[in-house]
Amino acid sequence: MFRGGSATLLPTRPTETTVPTREYDVVIIGGGPAGLSAGLYSARARRRSLLIEKKGAGGQIATTDIVENYPGFPDGIDGFELGQLMHRQASKYGMDTEYAVAERVERLDDGRFRVHLDTEEAIEGKVLIVTAGADYNPLGLESEERLTGHGVSYCATCDAAFFVGQTVAVVGGGDSAMEEALFLTRYANKVYAIHRRDTLRASKIMQERALADPKIEFIWNTAVEEIEGGDNLSGVRLHNLKTGEKQELPLDGLFIAIGQTPNSPLISQFVTLDEGGHVPVNEWMETGVPGLYAAGDLRCNSARQVVSSAGDGATAAIAAERYLSEHFADLFE
Ligand code: NAP
Repeated sequence: MFRGGSATLLPTRPTETTVPTREYDVVIIGGGPAGLSAGLYSARARRRSLLIEKKGAGGQIATTDIVENYPGFPDGIDGFELGQLMHRQASKYGMDTEYAVAERVERLDDGRFRVHLDTEEAIEGKVLIVTAGADYNPLGLESEERLTGHGVSYCATCDAAFFVGQTVAVVGGGDSAMEEALFLTRYANKVYAIHRRDTLRASKIMQERALADPKIEFIWNTAVEEIEGGDNLSGVRLHNLKTGEKQELPLDGLFIAIGQTPNSPLISQFVTLDEGGHVPVNEWMETGVPGLYAAGDLRCNSARQVVSSAGDGATAAIAAERYLSEHFADLFE
């Protein structure tokens, strides 16, 4: 649906730049499963491909203890290791990696993209695949970061299986929180749903399901004031926002589902983001701007899984390859 016209792509003059610039066919921003998969496909298509990543390979999975739902690993795989393996695989076929922060993107007169890095360098690409992901919104408590991966999680699909027969809580009142709570009932004995108001934001059907589930107990008008535990989570301290009452709640697991913030500002000048800041794309991950793709958690309606993000990245790279063949015939120049 977004197959863009080519009239604006006829080579014209490049925009002047004074910073050192390198040129690639495919530039990818974000080194999670979507970006690494896009890099693998683009490099195997023998396109000069560069992945720009600010931290390390793997994105969110790099901080996941064990990934148990990525096909091919029946015993699960350490998230960090999976990221490293994906990176090694793409690099083996020639994908370059630049560890830097992409600060600004411009579209040149000839339809290519120029990415300005925090290293005072710029990278130009005939296509740009943005796979910068989304960050889970944190509660912002001091202990939260320390206990993440040690009882505190942002993804029930990833981590629920660690809590068989145990007591967990979900924070939030949206669809994500209800979905997490319902998923957790398959494993945990007891699921508390802690919400700061007395009405849910979630869709009616999700509300009905969660409210009807005997394993889920709602704690209304309540904020998590502190997350407690030494090496591992032991519980939370709650604060009733109506009565002022404080309460200790012992827990084995705490799932925070208070929304996500997509890392989309980088390309917001090119596309109209949805309410949540996600990038609308079609089934080929095309944004509507010729040569610009968005894949993974950054895009609208992402399933937010390693496997679906990897699929997105591959899809974007295949679409990009077709676009390059159509518009830039200089494969081996
Ligand atoms: P959301 O709809 O924005 O809900 C976030 C929830 O977290 C709200 O209940 C909010 O409380 C609460 N919250 C926000 N900041 C908080 C804080 N600092 N402390 C405590 N609670 C806080 O986010 P979402 O649930 O991730 O959903 C995002 C979008 O994806 C929505 O459009 C949703 O419909 C969609 N989605 C759909 C499905 C599905 O259809 N199966 C599944 C997941 C997500 P308040 O209500 O008081 O603001």
